[in-house]
Amino acid sequence: MKSFVVSALVLCVLVTKAESASNAVAWCYHLPSCNFSTWSSIAAPFCNGTRQSPIDIVTANATFNANLTAFTFQNYNSTSALTKIENTGKTIKVGIASGVTVSGGGLSESYDSLQFHLHWGNGTAVPGSEHTVDGKQFPMELHIVNSKSSLNGNTTLAVGDPEGLAALGFLIEALPSNVTESPEAWKNLTSYLQNITQKGQSVTITDPISLDSLLDGVSLTNYYRYNGSLTTPACNEAVVWTVFNDTIKISEDLINRFSTIVRINGSSSPLMVNVFRGVQSPLPVQRSSSPARISCSLSLAALSLALWTS
Ligand SMILES: [Zn+2]
Repeated sequence: MKSFVVSALVLCVLVTKAESASNAVAWCYHLPSCNFSTWSSIAAPFCNGTRQSPIDIVTANATFNANLTAFTFQNYNSTSALTKIENTGKTIKVGIASGVTVSGGGLSESYDSLQFHLHWGNGTAVPGSEHTVDGKQFPMELHIVNSKSSLNGNTTLAVGDPEGLAALGFLIEALPSNVTESPEAWKNLTSYLQNITQKGQSVTITDPISLDSLLDGVSLTNYYRYNGSLTTPACNEAVVWTVFNDTIKISEDLINRFSTIVRINGSSSPLMVNVFRGVQSPLPVQRSSSPARISCSLSLAALSLALWTS
């Protein structure tokens, strides 16, 4: 009997340890006891660090950096690059097949695209992007997570490297309210949500959806850059952030699917809403060259010159 009690106790300790190792902190988005306002204390030391994400991007303060050139995207046009779509209980995550990479864009080396996931508020009425631009929050934000190719997918090494991860952030805006089920790629992607309404559920993506088709309409050379962190605990300061200036535009009905279909746990748990971290302390931001703005200032200069000489 005594040895049984001892073994049971040992087992309990082991189980507790295993749990804490796999999911260090019980953080959440929806309760005052574990939402993002608590992370700096419940998920110290990183979440209370000095290069935390997301941030508000103040466009007037972003400094131009000529090294922030075009990216090279490998297999972003592949229609078989997306593997499975999963409800993690905190977000909707989509796996990306091997061989999809991003380089250039001022990154120090090639990075493997591992997954993308989304952040949102509550439909189009309550915005839920993580980054804000000049104080404006957008309805949703897409994050493509990439890991240094030289680290061979070792995430422990990646989060310990100040540039181990490269995140591509895309702000998502609503199309005019008369437009529905658009664009096609997002209609197809969001059609899977009804099959993954509960935490832990996942399905294989069978539609031919490429990453390019999800990013349609975005100029990939016009972006902001800063060094920050993961936006969920443990908030490791290992992320080179790229936030694109242009938004992805999706119809309201598709945006609303996220906050009305998927749940944070079982079938009677709350709907997954307001899954974003609020902005953190400002950090220095650089910007890529912007053809649109340069040509605009040139034409303004030409106009002033014309007015002045006339
Ligand atoms: Zn994210």
